[in-house]
Amino acid sequence: MAVPFADLQLQYQNIKGEIDGAIANVIRDNAFIRGPYVDAFEREFAALAEVKHCVSCANGTDALYLAMAALKVKPGDEVITTAHSWISTAAMISHAGATPVFCDTDGTTFTIDPEAIEAAITPRTVGIIPVHLYGQPADMDAIMAIAERHKLWVIEDCAQAHLARYKGQPIGTFGVAATYSFYPGKNLGAMGDAGAVVTNDAALAEQMTMLARHGGLVKHQHQIEGVNSRLDGLQAAILSAKLPHLAAWTEARQQAAKVYDAGLNQVEDIVVPEAAPDRTHVYHLYTVRHPRRDELVRHLHANGVQTAVNYPTALPFLAAYGRFNHRPEQFPNAFADQGRIVSLPMFAEITPEQQDEVIRLVREF
Ligand SMILES: *Cc1c(COP(=O)(O)O)cnc(C)c1O
Repeated sequence: MAVPFADLQLQYQNIKGEIDGAIANVIRDNAFIRGPYVDAFEREFAALAEVKHCVSCANGTDALYLAMAALKVKPGDEVITTAHSWISTAAMISHAGATPVFCDTDGTTFTIDPEAIEAAITPRTVGIIPVHLYGQPADMDAIMAIAERHKLWVIEDCAQAHLARYKGQPIGTFGVAATYSFYPGKNLGAMGDAGAVVTNDAALAEQMTMLARHGGLVKHQHQIEGVNSRLDGLQAAILSAKLPHLAAWTEARQQAAKVYDAGLNQVEDIVVPEAAPDRTHVYHLYTVRHPRRDELVRHLHANGVQTAVNYPTALPFLAAYGRFNHRPEQFPNAFADQGRIVSLPMFAEITPEQQDEVIRLVREF
């Protein structure tokens, strides 16, 4: 039996009528750039994320840039983030003009270690970007306490964690702003690139909106120099069609995670992902650790099970950050995880038979 890593085609087939109808409406109304479908999605997503303002944009990478540009990050500023994330989180710190400062992860949850944040703060530090990696919230109480003590802003990177909660509070409502990606494979995915940045601060929302739309809210009135980072009408309508299903899809992922946990947690050498008791994990990825990861991956691939490594190189060790000359001892957890993490097939529609096959093959190995 072949088990795909994710199955976007199956998701589409299940709601084909809704998606096809949404696309047809946008074409009928010629509403390709901004317009009513984008406005509607911004309202709907703000309600879902329990925030006042949603500024849609072209992708989750731009969302990070827009938030930092609106906060007026400048050369010489340092922004603290995790050693273990997708490149966007760090790259946008540089593109906004500041310097990324990496912190190690905590060793169990794959999220930033608050103690490492405290140690990384200098007089130049202006903000912290925690990432709710794989769908598990970072330790927001500890992070917000540090931020308040040192008067730093916090931008939450929520690209992998739609609907996750920390002590009952929705992620994305702790910091001054939070960024989302709707890349097709994310828990809420468009059929192309899409993203958003959310906030409860009206002035910040307006600044980010201007930046995303050539620096102005009214055509030909450019208050500042902005960029072109718009959500298009087709993607907005597709996202609005999918949005009502997100809660059920999230529950299905959580259920699938329970099945993996039960099938794998007694297996020698496998460490299943640990969900901290006060955090609602939404399992964008189900990532296990294994000391012989590469051999395990070969065994699974040879038997038709797709896997992924998220990510093969921790941020400090990427060629893009060679200028910092980071050493493994500075980030022991993120460094060790590079060689032992593997993400197993995880999507809302995964069947018990598919999961049994994955579990059987891991046990066989
Ligand atoms: C996907 C992702 C992004 C970037 O989102 P795009 O929409 O692909 O630009 C940023 N941060 C994290 C943690 C991500 O997983």
